[in-house]
Amino acid sequence: MSDPEVLIVGAGPAGADLAWRLARAGTPVLLIDRLPDLRQAAFSSAALPWSAVEHHGLPESVIAARWQGWQLLGPGGQRRHWRAPHTLGAVLDFGALRCWLAERAAAAGAVVELDSTAEHWQPDGEGARVQLRDGTGQRRLLQPRWLVDATGQQRALLGDPPAAAHPLVSGVGVEWLLQVDAQLWGKWADQLSFMLGSDWVPQGYGWVFPMGPGVLKLGICRLTDAAHPQPPLQGLLQQLQRRLGLEGAAVLDRHGGLVRSSIRRREPHQRGPLLGLGDAVSTANLLGGEGIRHALSSSAVLAPLLLRALQGDGRCLRHYPAQLRRRLGWRWSLSGRLAQRTWLGLRSAAADRRLARLLGGLEACSADDLSALLFEYRFERYGLRALPYALGWR
Ligand SMILES: Cc1cc2nc3c(=O)[nH]c(=O)nc-3n(C[C@H](O)[C@H](O)[C@H](O)COP(=O)(O)OP(=O)(O)OC[C@H]3O[C@@H](n4cnc5c(N)ncnc54)[C@H](O)[C@@H]3O)c2cc1C
Repeated sequence: MSDPEVLIVGAGPAGADLAWRLARAGTPVLLIDRLPDLRQAAFSSAALPWSAVEHHGLPESVIAARWQGWQLLGPGGQRRHWRAPHTLGAVLDFGALRCWLAERAAAAGAVVELDSTAEHWQPDGEGARVQLRDGTGQRRLLQPRWLVDATGQQRALLGDPPAAAHPLVSGVGVEWLLQVDAQLWGKWADQLSFMLGSDWVPQGYGWVFPMGPGVLKLGICRLTDAAHPQPPLQGLLQQLQRRLGLEGAAVLDRHGGLVRSSIRRREPHQRGPLLGLGDAVSTANLLGGEGIRHALSSSAVLAPLLLRALQGDGRCLRHYPAQLRRRLGWRWSLSGRLAQRTWLGLRSAAADRRLARLLGGLEACSADDLSALLFEYRFERYGLRALPYALGWR
C-alpha cells in the first residue's frame, strides 16, 4: 500500500471502530496491530450494559453470555442478590469482538495489517513519519497525513503525560478462564458477581462472570499504591478461587493487563499530526475497570473531526478533548475520583465497615438501579446520604 491518509496504530475497540468510520467515508486508512491474531491476548473481561450493546450495534457473534442480575459478596462473605426480569447486559468474547470490528473495517475498505508494530514516529512536514516492524523483523517507513495512537493504556506513540500535571491512576487486573461443571455454572450464570472487602482483595475487588456455557471468568483488579506494600495478585486470585469453591476447575486461559487513566482527563490529546484515542487518552473508567464502550465513544467523537481535518480544516481538532469530555460526562470524572478513594482506601477494618454499610444501603435498590449506579454512575439514585460514605468523607 502507498502512504495512507490515516495510519491507526492499535486494532482494539477504539482503533478498529475509527478505521471503519473513516473507511466508510472513503478515506484511505491503514489499521495495524502488533498481534498476529486478534483472538490472542484477549485480556478484557468485556462486561457491558445492554444499552451499550444496542448503541454500538454489536452482533450476536461477539456475545459470550447475557446477564440479568447482580451478586455482591461483601466483607466477611455476606451475599446480596438483585435480579431484573430482563437482560441487563452482556459479557463479550473480547477476541471475537476485536475480529468482528477489524473485519467490518476491512469490508468498508480499510487495509488491516496484523503482526505489525509501530516502533517510533516523528513529525514530517505536514504529516508524520512512522517506522513499522513486521513479524519477520523487516522494517519500513510510512508517511501518513494523520497518525492515531490507539495502543490502549500503553500509549506507545503519545507516551505517558507528565506525571506531575496529569498523574495516571493505575489498576492491575488478572483473570482466569475456568471450565466448570453444569452445577457450578448454574451458580454463577446470568449475573455479574463481585467480591468486595479487604478480606477478599485489599485495595481492589474480585469478580466471577459467566462466559459461555460451562466457562467462568474469575478475576481480580487492584489499584496500584506505591505508598503501601501489596501482596502478590496471583496468591490473592488463588485464595479467591478456593474461597468460592472453584479450586477444582480446569484453568483454560490466564490473562490480564493494566487499566490506566488520569482522573481529570486534561492531558494533551494531540501532538501535531498525532492524535490519541481510547485508553491512550484515559477513557477507561477505574470504578469497574471498564472502558470498551468509552473507547468506542471516543472514536465516534474523533471520526467527524478527523474527516473535517482531512478536508483541510485541521483547526477543528482543537475541539476534540472538550467534545470527548462532554461525551463521557461529569459523572465519569466523579466516578474516577470515587474509584480512587474507594479502592485505595479499602485496606482496613474501618474501610470494610464503611463498605458494609454502603452495601446495606443498596438493598432497597432494584437491579436496574444498581446498573444505573455502576454503569451510568448515577450515585444519587440510591440516596445522596450514602455518597459521603462512598467518598470517604464519613
Ligand atoms: C483485566 C481487565 C479486565 C477488563 N474488563 C473490562 C470489562 O469488563 N468491561 C470493559 O468495558 N472494559 C474492561 N477492561 C478495559 C477494556 O478492555 C479497555 O478499556 C479497552 O480494551 C480499551 O480499548 P482500546 O482500543 O483503547 O485499547 P486496547 O483494547 O488496549 O487496544 C490496543 C491495541 O493496540 C495494540 N498495540 C499496542 N502497542 C502497539 C504498537 N506499538 N504497534 C501496534 N499495535 C500496538 C495492542 O496489541 C492492542 O490490540 C478491562 C481491562 C483489563 C486489563
